[in-house]
Amino acid sequence: VTIRALTFHGKGDVRVESRPDPTPPDQDGAVLRVERAAICGSDLHLYHGDLPVPETGFAVGHEFVGEVVEVGSAVRDFRAGDRVLCAGVIGCGACAPCRGGHVVRCERRQTRVFGMSGALPGGQAEAVAVPGADHALRRIPEGVSVEQAVLLTDILPTAFYGAKGAEIRPGQTVAVIGLGPVGLLAVECAQLFGPARVLAIDRIPERLARAKALGAVPVHADRAAETVQGLTGGVGPDSVIEAVGADATIQLALQLVRVAGVVSVIGVNMNFAFPFPMPLALMKDLTFRIGICPVPELWDELVPLVQAGRLHPENVFTHRLALSEGSEAYRIFDEKRDGVLKVLLDPSR
Ligand SMILES: [Zn+2]
Ligand SMILES: [Zn+2]
Repeated sequence: VTIRALTFHGKGDVRVESRPDPTPPDQDGAVLRVERAAICGSDLHLYHGDLPVPETGFAVGHEFVGEVVEVGSAVRDFRAGDRVLCAGVIGCGACAPCRGGHVVRCERRQTRVFGMSGALPGGQAEAVAVPGADHALRRIPEGVSVEQAVLLTDILPTAFYGAKGAEIRPGQTVAVIGLGPVGLLAVECAQLFGPARVLAIDRIPERLARAKALGAVPVHADRAAETVQGLTGGVGPDSVIEAVGADATIQLALQLVRVAGVVSVIGVNMNFAFPFPMPLALMKDLTFRIGICPVPELWDELVPLVQAGRLHPENVFTHRLALSEGSEAYRIFDEKRDGVLKVLLDPSR
């Protein structure tokens, strides 16, 4: 028996192919029939050939939800038929930090993202194997839609992590750089902490309009420094959330933030030689925070916020396509064609 999966074959090349039906990867593992999977900005790093990959031909994607179809003998909390979401990033599942959801602090250094290599194939597929199921999975909570559940696998926790890291206090001014799906969710999450203003920076008019509709002050990227200076009386925002990951936008965050402010980077930057403006940081006495979001750790805070309607992450989905249209879906997303923000794939089609 085989399944269809979206597989990686080198720069700019993802295709739908047949793969063997997955089996639970170990006694603690499970197999899901994938109900929906999303394409993420970090999938584009792979797609662009920016990541070192030891092989090709593996299934991609780390944002997926589905139904449990098979569990290993040691799985306690799940059984066939459960509808679940899966953390896009997992650890060993057994050490103390992993059991607490702090998967990035895994003591066995087994922090991994689905769909980045053949060692942990991804979920843009009809089915996917999940190691450490008791820790990687959560039942889709009552009152959380399938599309909201997909966003709980990575980008909503990531946006929330960025907002928490910004240490926003009531009445403050926070800037968000980059209004892609993660940045727009960061605008929503920042507002949970009671800032007086969220300044939302991008150069795409539709994205600026979306931020404005969320209650933010839109700021065009071409005039970001002057505009933000003007809006903050020359002081700068109390904190800046960076949701792009480019060298230039991280430097802009460092430049914009006020003295003794906080820069919280959730964009993915793969540049080992990033030119960090050390004298600027030194003279500003600033806090610079960067890291991979420990997804499961944040579910207890985020699920009630989604259930209560305080967050509407599902609005970032602009395109709903069949898995069979996966190659085209990547192209649309990569080229920011057709007003795309985020693409959802349906593996049943
Ligand atoms: Zn993602
Ligand atoms: Zn661990």
